[in-house]
Amino acid sequence: MPFTSKLIGPCVITICKRQSSNWKTVTENVISKGQTNKTFPNYVQLGDTICLNCYNGIVTRSTVEFQQHALEQSCHNVPEIPEETPMDIFTDSVTFLQGVEIITDVLYKREQNKLPTIWDFEEFRTVMESKDQRLKSFFDELYLSTNLRRKSVSTMEKVSKQLVFLCYFICGIRNMFVNNAKRDLGMYLDSTGTPNSTIDTLATMGLTLTSLSISYHKDSVSQKHSATV
Ligand SMILES: [Zn+2]
Repeated sequence: MPFTSKLIGPCVITICKRQSSNWKTVTENVISKGQTNKTFPNYVQLGDTICLNCYNGIVTRSTVEFQQHALEQSCHNVPEIPEETPMDIFTDSVTFLQGVEIITDVLYKREQNKLPTIWDFEEFRTVMESKDQRLKSFFDELYLSTNLRRKSVSTMEKVSKQLVFLCYFICGIRNMFVNNAKRDLGMYLDSTGTPNSTIDTLATMGLTLTSLSISYHKDSVSQKHSATV
């Protein structure tokens, strides 16, 4: 292969002694000879520039020094790719407790900002996962735990709502100020004429707010309404 005067260094070889200013391009021929000689470091790529000394070390003379260097690089570089995998496993999932903590925090902030209750499971998990991607594992497990795949479409829709309620329910136990879902249900029951005694029984189980809290809420809503009309 002829030398080309247009080529300019530096040489890409990290153990280069920088003693030559004659440059060569790494061609497929260089790679194949270097690989045969076991002198070709894996970070060197087609089209890279190397100096004549390194070229001789890799291709012509096949020195021990370059064999050693190529071996070190291959040992050094192989674990770099799998290194990310254990980290991913670590950071890509949350425990049940962490999941409940994160979701409770998001719901609390939403409710403080007067954002509406989310009743759709897919929407719920999209909102939560946008806050913390690791929640994917939490929702995957929650979803799988219901055996939804074996259920009919209409059952799946019902169960999806139940799953959302379950999230609100658990987070409401953790933080009593996460209570929009209970309030919505209580308001609905109240609007259908459900007796206060029934609402209060459900409230004891943590499924709705108490009838008293619901009437407070109705008052505050009607006050706000009359203030804005
Ligand atoms: Zn060199």
